[in-house]
Amino acid sequence: MDETLAMRARPIKDVPVGKGPVVYWMHRDHRLDDNWSLIYSMEKAKELDQPLCVAFCLAPEFLGATLRQFRFLVGGLNQLPEKFEKLGIGYALLEGYPETVLSPFLHDVNAGLVVTDFDPLHVKARWNRRLAGCIDIPLHEVDAHNVVPCWLTGQRRISTYPTFRKSIGPLLPRFFIDFPPIAAMDRVWNLGPEGIDWHAAMDRVKVDVSVKPVTWALPGEDEAKKALKMFITDRLEGYQEKAMIPVARSQSDLSPYLHFGQISAQRVALEVRSSKAPEEAKANFLDQIIVKRELSDNFILHTPDYDTFGAFAGWAKDSLNAHRLDAREHVYTKEQFEMGLTHDPLWNAAQTELVKIGKIHGSLREYWAGKILEWTKNPEEGLATAIYLNDRYGLDARDPSGYTGILMVMGGLYGKPWAAKEVLGKVKRLTYTAERLNYDIHEYMDRVKAL
Ligand SMILES: Cc1cc2nc3c(=O)[nH]c(=O)nc-3n(C[C@H](O)[C@H](O)[C@H](O)COP(=O)(O)OP(=O)(O)OC[C@H]3O[C@@H](n4cnc5c(N)ncnc54)[C@H](O)[C@@H]3O)c2cc1C
Repeated sequence: MDETLAMRARPIKDVPVGKGPVVYWMHRDHRLDDNWSLIYSMEKAKELDQPLCVAFCLAPEFLGATLRQFRFLVGGLNQLPEKFEKLGIGYALLEGYPETVLSPFLHDVNAGLVVTDFDPLHVKARWNRRLAGCIDIPLHEVDAHNVVPCWLTGQRRISTYPTFRKSIGPLLPRFFIDFPPIAAMDRVWNLGPEGIDWHAAMDRVKVDVSVKPVTWALPGEDEAKKALKMFITDRLEGYQEKAMIPVARSQSDLSPYLHFGQISAQRVALEVRSSKAPEEAKANFLDQIIVKRELSDNFILHTPDYDTFGAFAGWAKDSLNAHRLDAREHVYTKEQFEMGLTHDPLWNAAQTELVKIGKIHGSLREYWAGKILEWTKNPEEGLATAIYLNDRYGLDARDPSGYTGILMVMGGLYGKPWAAKEVLGKVKRLTYTAERLNYDIHEYMDRVKAL
C-alpha cells in the first residue's frame, strides 16, 4: 500500500486480521468518490484477496437530529448502493445503534477486518470503543474528512490559527494531492443482504418531524458536486472573508454537504486551487476549509468536555465567573430564543433563518451566539441554549465546526481578551450598531421575512 495512504489510517484495535471479507463501516463520510476510507478499504480487500462490503448503521436517535437532518442523511445514503454494486462492493443498511447491530453483522459475514471513518465527536469515540470491545478482528480508522489526518497535524490541542498554519503547512505537499482512480473489485461481494427499503427504515427512526426538511439543498454527492461547481463559477471570485456580509450571497453553502461527508473537503480544496479565481479569493477560501475546519477537529479530538463551560478559554472562564452576578438588561428562556421572541429584530431574523433554512450566514452566526451568551442567566445556560438551537435546526450542525464556532464566540476560543464590560467580562461584545454599520440589516430582515 502507498505510504501516504497508510498514514491516513491508524488502528483502534490492533489484532491479527481474520480470514473473511473487509467491512467498511461508514459513519462520517457518506460518498463513493474521493473517499480515503473507501480507497483504503478497497486496497486492504485487494491485498487480502477478499470482497468488500460497506455497512451503515442507521441509529434511531442521534444527538437530537430531526426529520430535517435525517432526510438529508438518508437522501444521500440511498444513492450509494447502486454505485457500490457497479464496483462489486456490497452495501448493508443496519437499523439500530452500532454497538448492538454491527457486531452481529460482522459475525454473520465472517469479517476479517473493519475499517471506519475518523470522527472526533464523543458519541463516535464511544461507538468505536464499544465495537472494539466485542470483536476479535482489527478495527482501523481512516481520516477521510480532513486533508491532513487530524492526529498528524497536532498531537495536542493547538490554540491559535497561526500555530495551526505552521503545523499543517509542511504536511500539505504530502497530503494535499489528487485522489487515485477507483477500479472495480476483483472479488465481488455476494453475501447479501439484498434490497433496502429506505422508506420503511426512515419510518422506524424516532425523529421529531416538526423540523421540516429544507428545499434549497438537495442531498447526495452528485448534488454536492453541482453546488461546488456553481460556487466556483458564480461566487468564488468575490469570496473575501472580511467583505462577506449576510446580504451578499458569497459563501459556498457547502457546509451541509461537508458535514454529511457527501463531498470531500479535499476535493473542494483541489477544485478551488485549480480554478481561475483570483489568488486572494482562493487563499481566503482555502484558509476556511482547511485551516479553520481542520483546527475544529483538532480541538474536539483533544478536548473531551468540548460542549461544556469547562472548554472555554481560561481567561474567558475567569472573567465570566467574575461577572456572574451582574445585572442583565435582558434575560430570555430557551423557548423565547427558539421562537425568536427577543427585543432585537436582527437576532430574531437570524433565528428565523436558522429555523426555516437550517443555516445562518457565518458572520451573523457570531452575533446570534454572542447575544445568547449576553441574554441568558449564566454562561452554562447560554452555551446549552446555543448548542440546542444549532443542533436542532442547523443542517450542518452536530459538527466540530459548530461546537468550536460557538465556543469561539462565547468562550474566547482562538481569541483574545477585550476590555472588561458588564455581564460578558472580557468576552467580545457583538453589537447591533456594528452590524448595522457593516451591511443593510433591513435588507437582510426583509429577505428573512420573505422566506
Ligand atoms: C456560532 C457559530 C456556529 C457555527 N456552527 C457551525 C455548524 O454547525 N456547522 C458548520 O459546519 N460550521 C459552523 N460554523 C462555522 C461557519 O460559520 C460555517 O462553517 C459556515 O458559515 C458554513 O457556511 P458555508 O459552507 O457557506 O461557508 P464558507 O464560507 O463557504 O466556508 C467553506 C467551508 O469552510 C469551513 N469553515 C468556514 N468557516 C469556518 C469556521 N469559522 N470554523 C470552521 N470551519 C469553517 C466550513 O467547512 C465551510 O463549509 C459556526 C460558526 C459560528 C460562529
